[in-house]
Amino acid sequence: IFITFEGPDGSGKTTQLKKLGEELKKLGHDVLVTREPGGTAISDKIRSIILDPVNAEMVDQAEVLLYAASRAQHVHQLILPALEAGRIVLCDRFIDASVAYQGYGLGLDVEQVKAISRYASSGLQATRTFILDVPVEVSMGRLHQRASGATTAAEQLDRIEQKHVDYHSRVREGFHQIASDHPERVRVIDANRSVEEIAADIWSQCNRLLEE
Ligand code: C5P
Ligand code: MG
Repeated sequence: IFITFEGPDGSGKTTQLKKLGEELKKLGHDVLVTREPGGTAISDKIRSIILDPVNAEMVDQAEVLLYAASRAQHVHQLILPALEAGRIVLCDRFIDASVAYQGYGLGLDVEQVKAISRYASSGLQATRTFILDVPVEVSMGRLHQRASGATTAAEQLDRIEQKHVDYHSRVREGFHQIASDHPERVRVIDANRSVEEIAADIWSQCNRLLEE
């Protein structure tokens, strides 16, 4: 079972993914918790190229291909072997992020972004995707709050997070479009609630999936 978490920065997806991972482990499941871009040493190096605010001149095509390169390494080195070993894989972002951010956000050809992603992942698809949905003002408010108290580089806004609110609004609309295009796979979770309420919602959806 391959479960992906999507949504804007500041939606709380990383918190929820970790919580779900812990709950599944308590039940005795063998769980791999990982993230994109990243997950392997090579993928993490690519991540830092993509996100470094120093790389402001990066062109859109390079951005798409770097995410794809990071994903290719991650899928083949880590995710596919884990799935083949029967583990449950929880991944923080996957192909839908490329479609939402680079496709809808940057305004690139969505079908092309999907095709590049399919090539990178050799067609691997998530079994279930949770999109954590919050109004852009809320997610950006959380981000700026985090950055204002930043003591480490990781807490500063990255190159993508620094983009204009209009960009982030297109990304949110993109996630809504993805949800309506793939009703069998995607569940939209209202993330403008407490951590506990969101976790309970995800947990009940996940139990249904495990019973299938
Ligand atoms: O989820 P996380 O904060 O680790 O994502 C890192 C950054 O990469 C974020 O700013 C996110 O918006 C961006 N991203 C992106 N396109 C993707 C995946 C992530 O712009 N396909
Ligand atoms: Mg983030």
